[in-house]
Amino acid sequence: MNPKMASKMSPMDLERRYSAHNYEPLPVMLVRGEGVYVWDDKGKRYLDMMSAYSAVSHGHLHPRLVAALTRQLGRVAVTSRAFYSDTLGPFLERACTLTGQDLAIPMNTGAEAVETALKTVRKWAYKVKGVAADQAEIIVCNGNFHGRTIAIVGMSTEPQYRDGFGPFPAGFKYVPYGDAAALRAAITPNTAAFLVEPIQGEGGIVVPPPGYLAECARICREHNVLLICDEVQTGLGRTGRLLACEHDGVKPDGVILGKAIGGGLLPVSMFLARKEVMGVFNPGDHGSTFGGNFLAAAVGLEALNVLVEEDLIGRAATLGEYFMERLRTLHSPLIKAVRGKGLLIGVEIDPVYCTARDVCEEMMSRGVLSKDTHGTVVRLAPPLVVTKEQIDEAVAVIQRVVDSKSLR
Ligand SMILES: *Cc1c(COP(=O)(O)O)cnc(C)c1O
Repeated sequence: MNPKMASKMSPMDLERRYSAHNYEPLPVMLVRGEGVYVWDDKGKRYLDMMSAYSAVSHGHLHPRLVAALTRQLGRVAVTSRAFYSDTLGPFLERACTLTGQDLAIPMNTGAEAVETALKTVRKWAYKVKGVAADQAEIIVCNGNFHGRTIAIVGMSTEPQYRDGFGPFPAGFKYVPYGDAAALRAAITPNTAAFLVEPIQGEGGIVVPPPGYLAECARICREHNVLLICDEVQTGLGRTGRLLACEHDGVKPDGVILGKAIGGGLLPVSMFLARKEVMGVFNPGDHGSTFGGNFLAAAVGLEALNVLVEEDLIGRAATLGEYFMERLRTLHSPLIKAVRGKGLLIGVEIDPVYCTARDVCEEMMSRGVLSKDTHGTVVRLAPPLVVTKEQIDEAVAVIQRVVDSKSLR
């Protein structure tokens, strides 16, 4: 195809033509965002109930975050970790202080931070716990989602995520999610860590029984096994606490952050842990060229500050409760369940009527954007700056959508 012909195609068609087919986006082309709203190329406004899988918890283009990024862009952006920087230290200090952890490794994407955690707990098993070489085991949960690298899809139980990508690294064991007794039974002297999401996000917004994480923490401590919480999606206020593990009063040995820590502007992630755990690293053991760069650190620090100073955490708690209450009053045969915590909400659709994708497409045509997860669940996870009125607006749309679908 010659370049002139290509330029006559719409950007949406170009994306369809040139992107590998590893996504199936809703048929809407977004061109602008501000706060909880995004706009398409025809000027139509949508309420964003997706928040880029919780990466946009601060809302689109939060003015304080844009200002922090712009300020830093006037100074320096990237120099690598070969030198000290004047932004990384303050960012890491804030992150460690807020989460109660001692040391951190900044990375870029969630998957990289998960990989960092896997490497850390294995090294800890050999250097501190005394596990024999190459024998370390990590226990993960059925239905988990921790990202898309080879090692991570290797520990997934979702056939599609694994299909065609083997062989996978060894050393992972599986237990049912929400079953602490199964964790206890799976632990051996070679177990390095239990890696768990406090609420399974991609798995369909699955909330474990109350006290589950606390019981897991007790079991891990008893057996000298590290408890690592993947808070990439649940962390930073999303569930109404800074970390979702706080609902159970749990302080894990390591925490993985991503998504919202980039303030909706940049890919920023981090693995944080206790000194005894992270202490296993020596210079050269691990790293990332862009990890903790000036822009990431400046935006990340401001993202943490905004979270606290604008009480986004408290908003998520109060408004999340309100949102779920309103959704539960819809009494539609289409809705099998409403579950979640804070502003991480899943609405389970009865497949007898339609798919969750059908619901999302109908919501889209009525000005509310979201995406299905796991076929039958509609995710409702707006930016934490959402207002009560905007939630009412979304509920009214959802009401009309489920009414129209249940008539058929
Ligand atoms: C999204 C997600 C990841 C992976 O993050 P990426 O930035 O997409 O690599 C890891 N863990 C959880 C719980 C997630 O929701």
